[in-house]
Amino acid sequence: MIHPDTELRYVNDLIGYGVVATRHIPRGTITWVRDNLDQTFSPDHVLRMSEHCKQVLEKYGYADRRGDTILCWDHARFMNHSCEASCLSPGYDFELAVRDLAPGDELTDDYGTLNLESSFLCACARPNCRGEIGPADSSRHADRWDGLLREAFPSIRQVAQPLWPVVSEKDKDAVLLGIADVTRMRSCRFHHLSNGQVNPAVCDEGLRIDMESNGKGHSHDAATRRSAG
Ligand SMILES: [Zn+2]
Repeated sequence: MIHPDTELRYVNDLIGYGVVATRHIPRGTITWVRDNLDQTFSPDHVLRMSEHCKQVLEKYGYADRRGDTILCWDHARFMNHSCEASCLSPGYDFELAVRDLAPGDELTDDYGTLNLESSFLCACARPNCRGEIGPADSSRHADRWDGLLREAFPSIRQVAQPLWPVVSEKDKDAVLLGIADVTRMRSCRFHHLSNGQVNPAVCDEGLRIDMESNGKGHSHDAATRRSAG
């Protein structure tokens, strides 16, 4: 579920639609939570789909750590990629604003976090644009993403959180541990595709063992996930 102070807005001919803030959204705000209305498709299910449905999933879905494809039920599926993303996901089923968003600012993800199976050329036009976004990015940039998340994480308790009731009870307990001691914040590596295995990158709260975990495993291509509408 996407933050209530957002709306779908046309960005430009190249990008299509995007998700923008309609009010000030401060850093540390939970901007999206995976909830039970989001649809989850196993790799086998995707294989049995028509080409039309596969293309919709390729455009608007993303791969989770189990290799399932997730299709968000609301306008969260239109969130675009940016190499300077305003929202990132620590190792819980939600995303966090990693900087303040003013009304009209776009909520963006880094698709490098989304278990890409192939690369795509980026059109985000940010000064630090990486040019090409691909499967290796998840490992290559995880420390930087975790750094941004650790700066935002303690603010979770200090800003309005309209989506807090949607966060799972299991995640709430783990988040409170992370707020008390930010070194226990679960790494973004938690979301790395693990081919159905328990991801050894995070085998306990806050414990992180570096590993190479590039997205492989099923036919989903999230390169254009939630992109032009
Ligand atoms: Zn870029």
